[in-house]
Amino acid sequence: MTDQYGRNIHYLRISVTELCNLRCRYCMPVDGVCKKSHDEMLTEDEIIDAVHAAAVLGVDKVRITGGEPLVKRNIVSICRRTAQVPGIREVCLTTNGIRLPQLAAPLREAGVRRVNLSLDTLNEEKYRYITRWGELSDFQAGLDAALAAGFEKIKINTVLIGGFNDDEIVPLAELTRQYPVDVRFIELMPMVGGEFSEQAYLSGEAVLKALPEAQPVAPDGGVARLYRLPGALGSIGLISPISAHFCAGCNRLRLTADGRLKPCLHGAAEYPIKGLTRAEMERVMADVIWNKPSWHGDLDALHRSQAGRNMNQIGG
Ligand code: SAM
Ligand code: SF4
Repeated sequence: MTDQYGRNIHYLRISVTELCNLRCRYCMPVDGVCKKSHDEMLTEDEIIDAVHAAAVLGVDKVRITGGEPLVKRNIVSICRRTAQVPGIREVCLTTNGIRLPQLAAPLREAGVRRVNLSLDTLNEEKYRYITRWGELSDFQAGLDAALAAGFEKIKINTVLIGGFNDDEIVPLAELTRQYPVDVRFIELMPMVGGEFSEQAYLSGEAVLKALPEAQPVAPDGGVARLYRLPGALGSIGLISPISAHFCAGCNRLRLTADGRLKPCLHGAAEYPIKGLTRAEMERVMADVIWNKPSWHGDLDALHRSQAGRNMNQIGG
């Protein structure tokens, strides 16, 4: 359905858990999240009801995210049931990849078509630092499992962090020559609980400076500006929520693991749907879509995100 600004909102991002097996410094505090009681979180049936309600309103694409979605016990069932909802054309998933060796094949079989894997460095020590305890070899095993499982598309998401990975733009981009993957460089967003200060913000333009041979290619309908290295198997994308916000073309609605609809990633507004029937969810959702704000407001050194949650509680 369209909102009052004429945007077609057809993409639902569902965070299925706030928990994670890593603690990336820009995303989550080291002591994790204050674990909410089971009763506060959406049940699997409620998640599927929300997908049905969204599909009736014209949503055709669902991304499953978190926290880390693959630590959720019933993740394969959630994905399978989501893919079976009439009207849902595409189910995709964003993950840190650590549990993909066990789960890539069952997820693909359950109907997940595309996966995004998060990777901010190719250096073992730096990987351990940024994730606080992750092992790069576990990520590599996850990527290998995803490649073997036959997903239609694999993307690698890299958050650009000045002073941390600006010296790795070239080797990270080179992954598109080594593997049939796209690499997306994402500007660091100033979340309330993130560890990095504004000095770490790096504009997407830094990627273009580091890759003079990258040639622009046609957009694929997503929010990234796309480029390609000569001879590469995949594209390079710039996602620039700060330097070139894409609110005018935003097609997204978010659902948190504790059952709040968020019309804007960086806005404070949240609308609870836990405990509602499918028909009630549909009514609230239609209202939320219609009233989606026109843009996320200022986001810079002086204006941190108004989301009031860490990224692991929203889903990125
Ligand atoms: N755990 C999964 C993962 O890491 O892919 C899914 C959830 S994570 C919150 C989703 C995406 O948000 C990741 O690609 C992560 O790098 C990104 N992210 C988290 N905090 C961010 C921030 N402050 N700015 C930009 N991207 C961020
Ligand atoms: Fe976990 Fe993903 Fe956040 Fe890293 S970015 S702490 S993997 S939820």
